[in-house]
Amino acid sequence: MPKRIRITHNGQTNTIHGWAKLLGIPASTVRERYMAGCPIDRPRRSMLLECRGEINTVRRWAEITGVDPNRIRARLRQGWTPEQALCTPGKYPTHRLRPRNPETLCWKCRNAVPNSQTGAGCEWSKGFRPVPGWTAELHECDGIESYRVLFCPKFERG
Ligand code: SF4
Repeated sequence: MPKRIRITHNGQTNTIHGWAKLLGIPASTVRERYMAGCPIDRPRRSMLLECRGEINTVRRWAEITGVDPNRIRARLRQGWTPEQALCTPGKYPTHRLRPRNPETLCWKCRNAVPNSQTGAGCEWSKGFRPVPGWTAELHECDGIESYRVLFCPKFERG
């Protein structure tokens, strides 16, 4: 028999079903918030997910990674970690969820400018080679082909 999860919140401990009754929400919602590491009494639309030092809503993560938000939530419900849920490519791309012209992540990344003293740099900024594991779109800018990086495992805000 699976172990019954007991959640402590605001100094009170209860089962998932107990919390669902107390909060007046479905048990599946309590479980989903708990698995995502969010406060169980916070509405789902403001659910925040942290991955590699960056915090965003599930919908924003979906835009960044190209993984459908429902798929991300389903993965979290199944017990995937936020990193697994966000970094495992989806079966189908979610073009409709992406902003029309999303800005490349590189603009905000400290690795965009290689620096041998600080160790900054990546395959892309040093040699125009794709970074393993990134999600990038090929696009044309002023007749030159380039990549718009939407998700990158080596991204560091800087
Ligand atoms: S590490 Fe990724 S996001 Fe950062 S500059 Fe390189 S390719 Fe762009």
